[in-house]
Amino acid sequence: MYENYVLNKQYFIQVIKDLAAMVEEQRDYLTKLDAEIGDSDHGINLTIGFREVMKKLPEWENEDLTSLFKKVGMALLGKVGGAAGPLYGGLFMKFGEPAANKDEVNFLEFAEMFKKGVELVESRGKAIVGDKTMVDTLRPALDKLFEAIDNEVKPLEAFEQFVKAAEVGRDSTIPIVARKGRALRLGERAIGHLDPGATSSHLILSVFLDNLKK
Ligand SMILES: [Mg+2]
Repeated sequence: MYENYVLNKQYFIQVIKDLAAMVEEQRDYLTKLDAEIGDSDHGINLTIGFREVMKKLPEWENEDLTSLFKKVGMALLGKVGGAAGPLYGGLFMKFGEPAANKDEVNFLEFAEMFKKGVELVESRGKAIVGDKTMVDTLRPALDKLFEAIDNEVKPLEAFEQFVKAAEVGRDSTIPIVARKGRALRLGERAIGHLDPGATSSHLILSVFLDNLKK
């Protein structure tokens, strides 16, 4: 079942384009969230990074998936300011590794790509669930994806569960104080606010899902 569900390069190229479009659309919203508990630049930083990706993407379209995502990650790493640069840059650099220099992957390899990316975010950010960061979105989502695969849930449905768990994880950042990042200094005043990184992480996973449904 999972071996026959194949994602080709065209899928990933479209995802990259849609990620760039999404960050433009959500720029002001993400920046507003960051204004509440951070330094008001998260949406702006992401658009700067993805504009660079879009500028270079035509040169990269003949790369295999491993190399394509390495280049996407490096562009983000170089251009996105704040903590998001190393975290999203690292996530995308690792994301292509399980594709093993191929132009398409099956669903199990696709799941491994997210695993690699999320593990990088956890190790680089040294964050765990409950710190009010991206990890609050990404870790429960990833666990749900692999749980769904263990339970032989159909690919699209498994991916829907993945993104739904990301949404629940995102919202789990609202009632808590931060233990990482700029919101840390706010103490209790961070309570009641969504974490901007947790929010952008959910939006990013949603783009992958929207393209699976196309
Ligand atoms: Mg910021």
